Parts: sequence; structure tokens; C-alpha cells
Amino acid sequence: MRTRARAFRIILAAAVGSGICSPLISAQDLPDHTARIADGVYSYGPGDDYISMFVVTDEGVIAFESVSSEHSTGFLQAIQEVTDEPVRFLLHSHNHWDHASGGQVFKDAGATLVAHAEAYAWMEANPGPDMVVPDESWSGSRHDITLGATTVELHYLGMNHGLGMTVFVLPEQRVAYIADLAVPNRVMFSVVPDFNIREWERSLEEILDLDFDRAVFTHNMASEPLQGGTKQDVQDNLQFIRDLRAAIYAEFQKGTNPMAVPGVVRLPQYEDWAGYDQWLEMNAWRVMMDDWMGPFPWRPED
Ligand SMILES: [Zn+2]
Repeated sequence: MRTRARAFRIILAAAVGSGICSPLISAQDLPDHTARIADGVYSYGPGDDYISMFVVTDEGVIAFESVSSEHSTGFLQAIQEVTDEPVRFLLHSHNHWDHASGGQVFKDAGATLVAHAEAYAWMEANPGPDMVVPDESWSGSRHDITLGATTVELHYLGMNHGLGMTVFVLPEQRVAYIADLAVPNRVMFSVVPDFNIREWERSLEEILDLDFDRAVFTHNMASEPLQGGTKQDVQDNLQFIRDLRAAIYAEFQKGTNPMAVPGVVRLPQYEDWAGYDQWLEMNAWRVMMDDWMGPFPWRPED
């Protein structure tokens, strides 16, 4: 693979020199589990249900989401098959162990690990078995990282899921990277852990206002997950939450015993989505609890 990639780069160098194509490798020369999203932007997902992203600049690589040591080892290898540029940054989306583990692999490769201050504080206080504390943190609602001619916008939208949840946008390429807040073709995740549902809805509306056309989603149940999706997927996830709430309230209106509502609620328009059979009832419990007890998790503004 590596030899083939190197040979291709030599041919490519000649082609670029003669001005007949852009300095990108073609689809058939991409490493396994890797897809091209835009100029210099690639997704990587080895079938472990987690998809990472990387952008190649002329001054190094920015990688998004380490996931685990196993995932990161394959991820780094894929990056190194695409480019000789070193990985300069590994950006964490949020605090949870299942997303933010494996950072040591990128640290060892010389990358700086970056997370929002709220994620950083949690990671420091709650060390996961495969997680290292990031090298740098940033605070507030917006931070930009520029490498070569590429800028990454880091957007913190406030409470929604986990801590320090960051939505990344590459404005020139019009590509976003979105973890957990939107998952194409899937109902909400099981018991909807660590989501403040009303704040999540607000955040999805704000994501729809960001400048991107295509997004790589960490979790993606569409037929070609590595290809990412669009704002329509974000809109569809938002609509699902609202349709589920409406269906719950329709049952209340009919006089259904509230304790029986999650078991009888149905949304046939989503029955093709992943998780529909296993999780719809759990989703309904969570939406109902949130509207009954009040929103959680919640914390005061600093
Ligand atoms: Zn999470």
C-alpha cells in the first residue's frame, strides 16, 4: 500500500508540475477505510462505529477524534499513507471516554492534543483507562486554528451533550465534523445519555446556521457512512426529537396512562432508521422524563 502510494506521489508530482491536476491522491489509491470528502479532507472509519476526519495542509495535518488506541493506530497509518506531512494537531470533540481515548498514539507522533476547557477539566478529573489529558485547551464559544492555508473553526455551542462539545467547520472546504449531536439515519442513542434535550435542539438549530455543505459524522448509519452527509441529516435528527415529543403529548391527549406511553408510542416514518425497534421506547422515556422532571444535565453559567 505504502509503496503504491509513494509511486503514485512521484507520478503525481510530475502531473502537478505540468499543472494538469491538483495535489490529491485519487480514490483508488486511498488507504483502506478512508474516503475523500473535499480537497485535502478525508474521513477514516474502520467499521468500529466511529469515524474520524483529517485535513492535509502544506504545513502538516489536523486530525479530528482519536476514539481509542486501536482506532488511532489505524487512523494514523491511513494519514501517513495519504501524506508525508506530520500530524500537528489532534482535536477532541468532547469529553466522553468512547470518543476522547487513544490520544497517546497522536502524542507519540508529535501532535498537540486540543480540547475545550470544559472537556479538559472533566478528562483531568475522570481519567479513562485509554485516555490522556490533552496538551492544550481553549475556552469560550469560538476558537480558530490555522495551519498553512487552512483554518479550522472550533464552535462551542453551550450545553447539549457531554462537556465542551465542539463542532468543527472548515470554512474554505465548507466541511463540518460533528460528533454525537447528529447521527444520520438513527434514532436517539439508547437512553439518550448525558444529553440535555432542549439545549440539544437549540444546538441543532445553531449548527444549521453554520457555514458548511457537507459533514463527517462520528456515527453515521446511512448506506455510505464514510461519505458523510449534509445539513438535511441535522434537520432530520431535530425533526425526530420534535416528532417524538409530539407523539408523546398526543398519547397524553388520548388519556393514555403516562407510564404506558413510552411502550405504545410509534413513529412509522422513522421505522427504517437504525435503533428504531430497540431504542424508541427508551428515547420516549428520556424525552418524557426531561419534560417531567425538568432538563438535565444542567449547570449554572460560569
Ligand atoms: Zn458522547
